[in-house]
Amino acid sequence: MKFRLATPNDSHLPYYSHSIAEAISTCPKWGLIRYKQRKYFKSNYRAMALDAGSAMHEVFAAFRLWQLYRIQGLEDHFKFHGRRLFNADLNEGEGRFERSFKPRTDPRDELLAFCFEILNSGSFYDDPSDSIRTMSNMENTTIRYCDTMLAIADRNPIWVRDVNDPTALVGIELAFDMVIDDEIRYIGTVDGLSERTEGIRLEENKTASRLDEAWRDSFQVKFQPTGYTVAARLLTGRTDIEKTKIIGVKLKQTRSMEDMLSFEVYRDNDAIRNWYNFIRYIHRLTLEFERNPLDAPQFTHSCNRYSRPCGFIDLCSASPDDQLAMYESMEETPLSPSEEAILNGKAVT
Ligand code: SF4
Repeated sequence: MKFRLATPNDSHLPYYSHSIAEAISTCPKWGLIRYKQRKYFKSNYRAMALDAGSAMHEVFAAFRLWQLYRIQGLEDHFKFHGRRLFNADLNEGEGRFERSFKPRTDPRDELLAFCFEILNSGSFYDDPSDSIRTMSNMENTTIRYCDTMLAIADRNPIWVRDVNDPTALVGIELAFDMVIDDEIRYIGTVDGLSERTEGIRLEENKTASRLDEAWRDSFQVKFQPTGYTVAARLLTGRTDIEKTKIIGVKLKQTRSMEDMLSFEVYRDNDAIRNWYNFIRYIHRLTLEFERNPLDAPQFTHSCNRYSRPCGFIDLCSASPDDQLAMYESMEETPLSPSEEAILNGKAVT
């Protein structure tokens, strides 16, 4: 097992993210065509969960930025990283970041107004067929998140590499690009890093329509915190990072105990070995079928994942000749935010 941050010389190496690796393990045929070949059948279906999750992640980043400024007193870091995260161009005079933040006398009012502006100036818009993922529900979720996190912010400082250098890394939305065994790149975005008296802790924000014990228990073994633990060690140079705080919040608040749930999970070197073996397995599978993804194994248990028919059912049920014709008519999917950050050179390397 050998890990290091990527350099520009590694750009030719194949890359995986947690989502890509999970998709390939869910159904190799689907994962390879959809996420490695980046092909799909255009449909009118809008991935509302993804859109809403992205919008809320901008709110979580806004909260952490505000915390840097008002709780940790790092105004210049707040401004630099606010522009990094929300302005289209770092040299832009006044961008989305400046338009969204207006100083106020009451700290809570200021925080909420900033988060609402970020939410409302993003790309999310309501869909009449979805009554859960709505702007109004997400505003209520924002209030719940801010009130809960504000109460503990002074005990949970954001990790800052150098308090005297505003351009240095801070633990907010860190896109990373790392290399495994000089052969494979693994990419992703760390939502947060906090520096507590006992050490650095990862923070992973999740939005969900249900938060229960089963959801919570799944994080005892999920690979995302494991791979991100390795990334956080490389980003910070601290080899003792083991904890991730999972912060789950429901997109529709129901005034119940399950509206927001946060807890810690631990990842030791045995867990890292298991994740490493998984990525190596996914890479072997990819090498075997990437030239002929139509012949990749079909894991039919996943044809109705999340109680929806897989978008490739017509493809998989067609004859081989028809499959080829259908494959050639597929469109290219847009890049995910992590892929985009890496291709635009925004990843930490
Ligand atoms: S329809 Fe089933 S077998 Fe075909 S790609 Fe989708 S999940 Fe895999």
